[in-house]
Amino acid sequence: MTKPDQALWLDVLSYLRTKHPAICRQWFDDIEPLGLKSGVFRVRVDQDVRLSYLERVCAAQFTEALRAVSGALVYVRFIAEDEQEESSTPSVVTRPVTVGAAAISGGTIGGPKPEEGTSTSGRRPGGIRHEGILISPDYTFENFIVGPENRLAHAASQAICEKPGRVYNPFFVHGGVGLGKTHLLQALCLRLMAQNERPTIYYVSCDEFMTQFMEAVQAGAMSEFRHRFRDVDVLVIDDIHFLTKRDRTQEEFFHTFNSLYQSEKQIVLSSDAPPEDIPDLEDRLISRFQSGLVVQMNAPCFETRVQIVKQKGKIRGLDLSEDVACFIANRATQNIRELEGSVTKIQMLHVTDQRPIDLELAKQALEPDAGTLRPQVTMSGIVDAVCAHYSVKLTDLQSKRRQKSIVLPRQICMYLARRFTRFSLEEIGGHFGGRDHTTVMHAVKMIDLEREENAELARVLAALEDQVRAPSGSRRLAVVG
Ligand code: ADP
Ligand code: MG
Repeated sequence: MTKPDQALWLDVLSYLRTKHPAICRQWFDDIEPLGLKSGVFRVRVDQDVRLSYLERVCAAQFTEALRAVSGALVYVRFIAEDEQEESSTPSVVTRPVTVGAAAISGGTIGGPKPEEGTSTSGRRPGGIRHEGILISPDYTFENFIVGPENRLAHAASQAICEKPGRVYNPFFVHGGVGLGKTHLLQALCLRLMAQNERPTIYYVSCDEFMTQFMEAVQAGAMSEFRHRFRDVDVLVIDDIHFLTKRDRTQEEFFHTFNSLYQSEKQIVLSSDAPPEDIPDLEDRLISRFQSGLVVQMNAPCFETRVQIVKQKGKIRGLDLSEDVACFIANRATQNIRELEGSVTKIQMLHVTDQRPIDLELAKQALEPDAGTLRPQVTMSGIVDAVCAHYSVKLTDLQSKRRQKSIVLPRQICMYLARRFTRFSLEEIGGHFGGRDHTTVMHAVKMIDLEREENAELARVLAALEDQVRAPSGSRRLAVVG
């Protein structure tokens, strides 16, 4: 690599850390720049999970940064450690990694070999499929803070990695939103993937399981569906509590479970409630889930929260002092995701103001409105903003229509209403066509997740939030909801 390329790369990183601090990680320093050739700047990434993160979360920002610092129409191409360098086509153009089609398998990732890791008779190459869910390089055991609230769940996950299918099977972890269930499940997958004897893992959300089931039924492809879910060593299903009120899916899941269990394959499930409290779950499934190890994860105590805040800072390259970490930890007691949001806000202010992170900056970042009266966010303000942005009508949102063009704005309305108004889940559901509280919960979760993974959606949400929180005079219609 020539010297100017090296300098260019350092400028790219510095641009990203200033303009897009929230996506930056400390390990960006480990990315190996290979140089600019034919308009493509190749960089080598040492871990599949990091490569996936870069391709799915950061591709647009890296290209924006490279164009800004070079002043030329160039692309960034991320390549895996074992990938050949010959192709000069940009990853952002030719390898769009779509949500729902990602696979890490046999050391490769993304679109090129999606069939690997799926069912094959004979030898399986090992690897992980994680359709519909991004595996975060942040979600490792090393980054997981152990406290009294999660000690058992953490210990059990580690024990499972030693002997999948042999110790705790099934492993059922439950707890409230944002308490680290997904982090733990992903840590387990990442640890298994890093071992010599790499098993075949299938990691999906419950939603994805149900969608695939419905598609398989419609396409008459049940045999392929069964292979996909049963021909694995470890099946990990996140948010299994969504497996409700759908008898045929429960039936299918019951058989999937039995098939894996009988062949001593590991089953790992997460849920927001213990098996017996999942509404409408069949008794036979409740008893299957209870037959292994059921562990609850509780809200972290203050000490754990402080450590988590520091850890979240560390992976972003921030060294947060004790008083700043305590200040942040004090503000969110139930959902750790809020702590992470606070760290991001502080980082943004730190970067834009170019001031060191101290208590004063933290307070300014997290309490910008202190002393001023917050304008009240209303349901109609939310509906107006969302409808205007997506060109839909309130009646569409209240209808039974399930097209994506309606479902997304409806879910965004529910998400914003939950965040900024005091309406209950039931009231919000009622406002949007008499939907029940689980639908609202689901919407909030989906948007929360999408927001983390989809930069475009994150931008839209930030703009909508500004709009609905703006003083009523500057809003189009401010009827108190
Ligand atoms: P859940 O799946 O239970 O809703 P997540 O696993 O998505 O929660 O966790 C929400 C956020 O909190 C993630 O950023 C995760 O890394 C973080 N988190 C939760 N528990 C811990 C922990 N013990 N140590 C470090 N980070 C944690
Ligand atoms: Mg989760």
